[in-house]
Parts: sequence; C-alpha cells; structure tokens
Amino acid sequence: MTRVQVHDKAGRELLGEIAVAQRDDVNRAVSTAREAFAAWREVPVVERARHFFRYADALERRREELALSVSRENGKTLADARAEVRRGIEAVEFAAGMPSLMMGDALSDVARGIDSISLRHPVGVCAGITPFNFPAMIPLWMFPIALAAGNTFVLKPSPQTPLTPELLHAIAGECGFPPGIFNVVHGGGETAESLIEHPDVAAVSFVGSSNAARHVQERAVRAHKRVQALGGAKNYLVVMPDAADSATCDAVISAAFGGAGQRCLAGSVLVAVGAAGDALAPMLVDAAAKLRLGRGTADGVEIGPVVSDDALARINGYVERAVNGGARLLLGPRAVPEGGAFAAPVIFDRVDPSSELARDEIFGPVLAIVRAGTLDEAIAVANRSRYGNASSIFTRDGGSARTFASRIEVGMVGINVGIAAPMAFFPFGGVKDSIFGDLRCHGKDAVAFYTQQRVVVSRWPS
Ligand code: NAD
Repeated sequence: MTRVQVHDKAGRELLGEIAVAQRDDVNRAVSTAREAFAAWREVPVVERARHFFRYADALERRREELALSVSRENGKTLADARAEVRRGIEAVEFAAGMPSLMMGDALSDVARGIDSISLRHPVGVCAGITPFNFPAMIPLWMFPIALAAGNTFVLKPSPQTPLTPELLHAIAGECGFPPGIFNVVHGGGETAESLIEHPDVAAVSFVGSSNAARHVQERAVRAHKRVQALGGAKNYLVVMPDAADSATCDAVISAAFGGAGQRCLAGSVLVAVGAAGDALAPMLVDAAAKLRLGRGTADGVEIGPVVSDDALARINGYVERAVNGGARLLLGPRAVPEGGAFAAPVIFDRVDPSSELARDEIFGPVLAIVRAGTLDEAIAVANRSRYGNASSIFTRDGGSARTFASRIEVGMVGINVGIAAPMAFFPFGGVKDSIFGDLRCHGKDAVAFYTQQRVVVSRWPS
C-alpha cells in the first residue's frame, strides 16, 4: 500500500502519513458502510440526533487541538483555523436538529376518506470528497447531516490535508458512533473515482475545483446517482463611491488576502465604481503592505503559506504574466519568510475585466482592481464570469444594494460584508460553474439531498 507523508506547510516538518486506499480498500469501506446502514437507519432519529449533541460537545472541547491540526497541515493562521472549526461545529449542531428537519407534511381528506403524508427516508451509503482549504469545516458540512438523516458515510478528504479529517473520525469513534457508519479512505482522484463508481454508493457530495466538480457530476449522473458538486469561484467585490472608507478597506483586505486567498469566498476582484477606485487603492496598498507573513501558528501572523510549491508556482505565474503583459502593478511581491510556500499580497489596478487576472481563479493573495463607471457596468463585469459563487457590494445606499442583490448572478450575496458565508442553517453554494447539481451544502438543501421523499396515500375502509 502506498503511503503519503503529510508535512507542516510552514516548516515542512513531518506531521504524519496516510495510506492511499486502493480499489479493494474502497470496496471494503463501502461494504462496511452498507452493512451498517441496515441497523443505523432503524435507530430512531432522536437517538441518532443525540450522537451529534455529544459530538458537537466533544469537538467544542477539542476545538484548539483541531484548529492546531488545521493550521499546521493547511498553513492558515490559527485564528482562521479556529473560525473554521467553529463553523464546522455549527453544522454538527444543525445536524442535531434532524428530528424537526426530517419531518414531512400531512394532509387529511385529500379525497373522500383518503389521507396523505410525505416522509423523508435516508438514501443509503453517501460519499464525500473534500478539498484542502477547509479540512475540518467541509467534511463537517457533509457527514453529520448525512448520518443524522440515517445514511452511512465514506469520506475521502484531500490528500494534502488528511490528518484533520482523521481526527474528526477518531473523535466520532470516541463519542460512540456505531462502528461502520462513518468511514474514511485516503487518496487522490483515482480513489475518489472508485468511490463514485461503486454501485453501492447512492449519493456523492463533492467540493473542489470546477473541472473536477464537472467530471464528478457527469460520472455520478451516468451511474444514476444523486450528486452535489461544488466547484471553484472568482468573487467580485463592488465598491460604490459612498463606501470607499476604512471599514470597506478592512473588509476587502480580509476577503482578498485572508487564508492567503485560498478560499472559495475570496474576494479577488474589486470592481471600483466611479471615484471609489482612487479613494480606496492607496488605502488598500498601505494595509496590504503591512500584512505579516509567517507560520500560521505564530502570534500576530496574518498570512500563512499557500498549500504547496505547485500552488505558489501557479500564483507567481499569473503575476509574472500580468506584469509582462503590461498590467499596472500597485503592490508587487516582496521578500517572504523561508520554510514554506509563501506568497506576499499583490495588487493590480485598472485591470482589463476580460484578462485572466480578472477571470481565472488564481487561489492566492492577488487582488485585481477593475474600474467601472456605474453600478450597472460593475454588475455586468461580475456577471460575465463563468463562476457564480459569491459577490458583495459596499454602499450606504439601500437602492444600490437592492439592485445589486436582485441582479447579481451568484448564490451568496454580501451587503457590506466581504465574505458572504451563509451559516449552517442556510444553504451554501453558488450558480454557474461554481456548482454542478442542484442542491447545495448544509441548510435545508442538505436535508433534501441526503433524504428521499415518499408520499403515502391511505384509505381505511370502515
Ligand atoms: P481539487 O479539485 O484539486 O480537489 C478536491 C478534491 O477532489 C480532493 O479530495 C481531490 O483528491 C479530489 N479530486 C481531484 N481530482 C478529482 C477527479 N478527477 N475526480 C474526483 N475527485 C477528484 O481542489 P483543491 O485544490 O483541493 O481545493 C481548491 C478548490 O476547491 C478551489 O477551486 C476552490 O474554489 C474549491 N472550493 C470550493 C468551495 C465551494 O463551496 N464552492 C469550497 C471550498 C473550496
């Protein structure tokens, strides 16, 4: 069996290793989940829910250990990692509400002497395939809700950040989850494919880049499975002239450079309307130049390393091509710490809205400022994107905010909020190439995804 080493992304120390699952290992995990399903689905939903009260409590007690694990294997700052774990725990708390969430509808006398009810049943074995950038939160969007609804689960986390998911699995075991209901296999695309193709996997949840998401959705649909595949993003932050102030600057800095730009909600294009650009650009440059790079676990650090040398090369490639192509660099790369793949914040101004800088998901700390004359023009720039995850407007004018919220083509809209992340009781996901499949993660969408509806029509002759 191939083993893969996992290193601290800042100092490159060895943190642990994982065994890559071969097809036989995947088959074993799926049959374990399938066998466990028969008994687990019969456990009353209130008892299933109790596991998640205990689990949320255990995660809360071990939040610091989980955050440290995230920070070390992903590279993000401890503050970001703590926030990530908190959002993940909220999804577990949501799952603990499953008795109400799974309730169906009832109507008596739909015809003479006939009543009708709709019920939600689990779908079977569910698979989850998750990315590197939220190794705690994104698995927690999936398996707790699927399990609480009576399904069993096989998780395949990113091979770049597999240790936190292992810890989540170990804590589930310590909380008394029945054996076999929650399984983890490791590996990359090939392992994921064996899972997707397995005939006993009924539903596939995927979060990652758009090309992989499209591929996963196509394969799953061909095999007649349920699938939700969340893809990549390029999120536009529109700033109106009435909001070009320090609060907006802080929000843009955090959206563009937080998590080293490796968030699916990263605000990587600022569309400055009218005078907003001239007012905001110097403030942004000043603030970004001061951001402290370093090991995510160190005090005061604001940007950790990106996930790999390959990711760094991709980011630097975008910057170099833009500079060589004559793009206007406001803040250029600077000296970075040693020991990890560090990328310093970069800002370009007056970026061509059709250039790769304004269109591609760079997934690094690179902010492109695009200038627009009007709100209509700004919305048009954003709506030309192939992606439609999130977008925000900064304004003090209700009319502009309302127009933006109704016309912007994304799944998550921010109004004076840079990172428009819905909490666990709302659905998370976008439109266009940011999602393949209809139902999003967490919220009622997830309950619908992990359950199948059955309508019972009954007559009791007297
Ligand atoms: P990735 O697509 O490289 O990998 C994601 C997962 O898919 C991993 O587990 C990987 O092993 C697996 N995988 C890779 N190729 C596959 C294939 N052909 N078939 C099946 N599985 C495959 O993504 P990443 O680099 O880990 O994460 C970053 C990406 O995830 C970015 O594009 C980011 O926008 C996206 N993301 C999206 C959301 C969202 O909510 N839309 C959230 C987080 C991250």
